[in-house]
Amino acid sequence: MHQEWIDEGLILKVGRFREIDCWVRFFSPNQGLVTAMAFGGAKSRRRFCGCLDALNSVLFKVRFFPAKGRHVLEEGTLLRGFPRLRQDAARTGLAANCLQFVQALRISPEDAPAIHKLLMETLDALDQAENVSSVFTQLFRAKICFTQGYAPELDSCMICGRLVAEEPRSGDQGLRSADGHAVDRFGCKMGRFSGLTLAMETGGVYCAHCPPVAGHQVHIGPETRSILSQLASSGPRHWADMSISRTTRGELFQMVDGYVRRHLGLCWRNGRFVAG
Ligand SMILES: [Zn+2]
Repeated sequence: MHQEWIDEGLILKVGRFREIDCWVRFFSPNQGLVTAMAFGGAKSRRRFCGCLDALNSVLFKVRFFPAKGRHVLEEGTLLRGFPRLRQDAARTGLAANCLQFVQALRISPEDAPAIHKLLMETLDALDQAENVSSVFTQLFRAKICFTQGYAPELDSCMICGRLVAEEPRSGDQGLRSADGHAVDRFGCKMGRFSGLTLAMETGGVYCAHCPPVAGHQVHIGPETRSILSQLASSGPRHWADMSISRTTRGELFQMVDGYVRRHLGLCWRNGRFVAG
């Protein structure tokens, strides 16, 4: 008994076994991460048209044998390659970093379509963009971490509920103290927004009036806050040519690495993501 399905898959890795057979690890929008055998895969141009290479998007016809939990590739048709990305070692390295991160996660079937879409947009950006920002992989990881339910709450203080913004926002607009300063809805003077303290455990922020309590915290400035706030609606194309200050770059490295380790339990060690 077996089942058959047809779905696209982004190839993450291909390995050889015996003389002409391969195993192929790919990520598909409906099945998530799949490892399948391709018997004759190293030779059969008729069934696989030379498409069994990492970083190819392929339409696969698959047989699944539930009793053995085994997937076998019947055919593959190339849907898209990323030629420029493939020729650039630095960009291939960034793509590999993103792909390895996804392989280290446990992705539920419900999340697989969104992750597949993000992966395709990521490779498209790395293939097409003129420049690639140094925080590209950080933002990729942050986006996945946030969509897994760990998005930080950056708009209001988790202790007192004050809105934390550079300018008075809805509800606060036009409020003035007796000496003419802009004040928030609590009557506190609104200074120029200089940054926030983010609690890594809860993803909440402390306003200037509430001293942080114990725990792992990082400081994030206005630029970092703005980038993180927009992450839900921004994508790899935005990140690729993002020009940011050195300070923000440092904050993003510190925040994302700590946040991913804390909430997804992963850190980068010896060229791969491991439980950390
Ligand atoms: Zn507060």
